[in-house]
Amino acid sequence: MGMGDLYRGSDHNYPGRRGFVMPEYEIYALKYAGPLRSSGAFLMWLRDWDTVEERNYYIWCIKGNGETVIVDTGVSPDLAREKDLAGYVSPAEVLSRIDVEAEEVRRVILTHIHWDHASGTSLFPKAMIYVQEREYRFWLEDRIAKRPPFKYVTDETSLTHLAALEKTDRLVLLKGDQEILPGIECLFAPGHTVGLQAVAVKTAKGTAILGSDCAHVFKNYREDWPSALIVDLVGWMRTYEKLRARASSIELLFPGHDVLMHEHYPAVAEGVTRLV
Ligand SMILES: [Zn+2]
Repeated sequence: MGMGDLYRGSDHNYPGRRGFVMPEYEIYALKYAGPLRSSGAFLMWLRDWDTVEERNYYIWCIKGNGETVIVDTGVSPDLAREKDLAGYVSPAEVLSRIDVEAEEVRRVILTHIHWDHASGTSLFPKAMIYVQEREYRFWLEDRIAKRPPFKYVTDETSLTHLAALEKTDRLVLLKGDQEILPGIECLFAPGHTVGLQAVAVKTAKGTAILGSDCAHVFKNYREDWPSALIVDLVGWMRTYEKLRARASSIELLFPGHDVLMHEHYPAVAEGVTRLV
């Protein structure tokens, strides 16, 4: 695929255009479920067994330069019902509170294909879906992905939906780091899954990174300690070094499930906070 395809739909600020100024974006966290409680050992690998910690479930919205990019799709209403997911509101409903119509969204980045990040993909029927090829091939083609511990963290409906997308022009399989719009770059960041991608975003405060479940909570980054769900610990350590080097500060490196993203940032609507 050529650059023309990657930048499809953007009429302004194409990098080749004269007088090009790197755009800046704002990032919103949209809570679609939670809080859920578990042992702290879920959030801090092999530690904090006796504590009880809370986590929320989010998707993110990057806005600016006339673009709206959604990061992850959350959980579909059907799967939320099946899992009896506490505090669930459809991601489409949460997006409508900041005037984003899920059905009209043009770009969705999937960080990884766990059920809580990818099962809402059918809520975005017109979007181009950007996912790492390594991640996509693993979940759809590797027989290891059908074994119990992997089946436990994904769901069949998402996989069927994602498999069908390959026959359309709505799926973009990325091979490593790739900018998808000026100032928005997908970064290959394995460790939590075989092909997780983080998203580096140019903002008024510098480069912010949506790390998704590279870390579940800010504390993972602060203490250089992963959460429990890791498929490759060495890979995770390298990924963390890479993301830390790219983010303008550690405060601009955002985790996947921290309740602080909901509680410690300015609310712009119910369940929606502006991270930067
Ligand atoms: Zn997650």
